[in-house]
Amino acid sequence: MDYKEHIAIVENWPKEGIQFKDITPLMDNGPAFKSAVDDIVDYAKDKEIDIVVGPEARGFIVGCPVSYALEIGFAPVRKEGKLPRETIKVDYGLEYGSDILTIHKDAIKPGQRVMIVDDLLATGGTIEATINLVEQLGGVVAGCAFLIELTYLDGRSKLDGYDVLTLMQY
Ligand code: IMP
Repeated sequence: MDYKEHIAIVENWPKEGIQFKDITPLMDNGPAFKSAVDDIVDYAKDKEIDIVVGPEARGFIVGCPVSYALEIGFAPVRKEGKLPRETIKVDYGLEYGSDILTIHKDAIKPGQRVMIVDDLLATGGTIEATINLVEQLGGVVAGCAFLIELTYLDGRSKLDGYDVLTLMQY
């Protein structure tokens, strides 16, 4: 399926010079959304994944249906101050300044095989930070899946040695 026809490109949002890829038309189209989720589920099938991890907020939208289909759990990665119980954290660099991502300390057991799912791979900062959290807890990152990859930002360079699936490339 050509998923790109379901992606809206928004110029200069959220700020001047950014060309935002909006996945909501894809989510709005039942067969297209299901097919995209199914592609990620197929990718996961031979990887013996124990749990799906997704960063907020669009990682929840894509990751949760994948975990449901695989009949395994989902663990959220969130900005600092959002998760109610004991967490571990990582600082990660943004274009300007930095931010903090957290995960519940008991979300992943040592040795568990994890697939990280998010909507989009840009510079790779978010996935790098999420991998850091999973590995701090002793999880094994067995795959990373995204709907969209912005190849010109070269996030892949931060994913050397990891198994990566992207359904669309720009
Ligand atoms: P990165 O950390 O630079 O790889 O950026 C990826 C994160 O930023 C993902 O969690 C995305 O949800 C978000 N993001 C960056 N650019 C876009 C975009 O054009 N559309 C949707 N999400 C984006």
